[in-house]
Amino acid sequence: MVGLGLFLSEKFDTPVMLRITTRVAHSQGFVEKGEPQPRELRPYTRNPEKYLMLPAFARGRRAFIEERLAGLREYSETAAVNRIEWRDRAVGVITSGISYQYVREALPDASVLKLGFTWPLPEKLVRSFSEGVKRLLVVEELEPFLEEQIKALGLEVSGKAHIPSRGELNPGIVAGKMIEAGILEQREATAAAAVPEGAPAVPARPPVMCPGCPHRGVFYVLRRLKLNVTGDIGCYTLGGLPPLEAMDCCICMGASIGTAHGAEKADPAWAGRSVAVIGDSTFLHSGLTGLLNVVYNKGSSTVLILDNSTTAMTGHQQHPGTGCTLMGEPAPAVDLEALVRALGVRRVRVVDPRDLAGVTAAVREELAVREPSVIICRQPCALLERQYAPAPRVLAEKCTGCRVCLGLGCPAIALKDNKAVVDTGVCTGCGLCIQVCKVGALTKGGADHA
Ligand code: SF4
Ligand code: SF4
Repeated sequence: MVGLGLFLSEKFDTPVMLRITTRVAHSQGFVEKGEPQPRELRPYTRNPEKYLMLPAFARGRRAFIEERLAGLREYSETAAVNRIEWRDRAVGVITSGISYQYVREALPDASVLKLGFTWPLPEKLVRSFSEGVKRLLVVEELEPFLEEQIKALGLEVSGKAHIPSRGELNPGIVAGKMIEAGILEQREATAAAAVPEGAPAVPARPPVMCPGCPHRGVFYVLRRLKLNVTGDIGCYTLGGLPPLEAMDCCICMGASIGTAHGAEKADPAWAGRSVAVIGDSTFLHSGLTGLLNVVYNKGSSTVLILDNSTTAMTGHQQHPGTGCTLMGEPAPAVDLEALVRALGVRRVRVVDPRDLAGVTAAVREELAVREPSVIICRQPCALLERQYAPAPRVLAEKCTGCRVCLGLGCPAIALKDNKAVVDTGVCTGCGLCIQVCKVGALTKGGADHA
């Protein structure tokens, strides 16, 4: 599909959007590699009528866009990714993407129009499919994107009357809704939704911060201080989930600082009881302007830059602060402290996020000051070096089963028979749990990382 997108982009001189659903985005499997197509670098041709969208040029460009759309509409009628699969004609389903797989499992005998190119819609193909079936359905996730376009053609079709517009679909949901729609019998639906014999039961695995994650201690402190926290996008957004629950909002990339600043402007007292948190990668990507505005507009926000020296959430990509290009070549590394000072922030300090007392003191001090401040919480991502300290030792006779250590949300520690147990296979020996246990039931010197 990416290759087709590139082909269409070149052929029609247009941006192409490849829209994938959650299930496809989170899937993995074998792929067949195509042969790279050699391309010659075309010489640059100056063309302000196309690339400089001033009103005078934009008006002229409109005619081109309409011609291009007409061409794309014609192409969609014959595109190989839009195909009719004729089977039983009592029911015909128009679908696209992952929903096609669910339809094939739930309604294996139904005729299907599978659309891989959904806009502009292949009107003639849709009409011809509609004429060939007795009852026309659309199965699609979330918004009725296809359904509304098909209804606009004047065709009788149903979709969201049966198919939910929330969450992901699966064969069981589609089959169940087909019973409600009077299309399937119960026994057929049960067969469609059946789990293959011998398939292992898969437990739910919601995302959590890794054992030894340097962000964990920061959110533990913020929660204990009962602060309002404007968040940003990265692994650390998980700090908003139980048991840490130390993030109030995450609007878009880089918005943590602007949100904190805006809230402070609406209510000056906000500054003394809130912080913005943003990762190093996110800060360098889109946090600078927000911080500059805090300084310029005489704000007093406290910003925590969670510097784990990588872009962890998306797979440890390099960024301008790591000293390496994405291709692994040495590059100049941004000095975060100097950069923040250059933006006009005078109060800049660096703390170790695994030192809970140190983080607590730094946050308290900066919140008490009425000027912008930045606390850089610096500790590499636990998955970068993978050189771990021994796990803590549990002194079972001291453990009261109070569950305070579980408040860290570390996957490596649990209670068994009302006593703490540490999984040495995943514990990184970060020592946070030792710091929070008030009765000294956790000490250094346990087993090495297994
Ligand atoms: S190890 Fe400490 S914090 Fe954890 S349950 Fe036992 S006493 Fe409580
Ligand atoms: S030392 Fe404690 S908090 Fe750190 S990874 Fe091990 S169990 Fe988790």
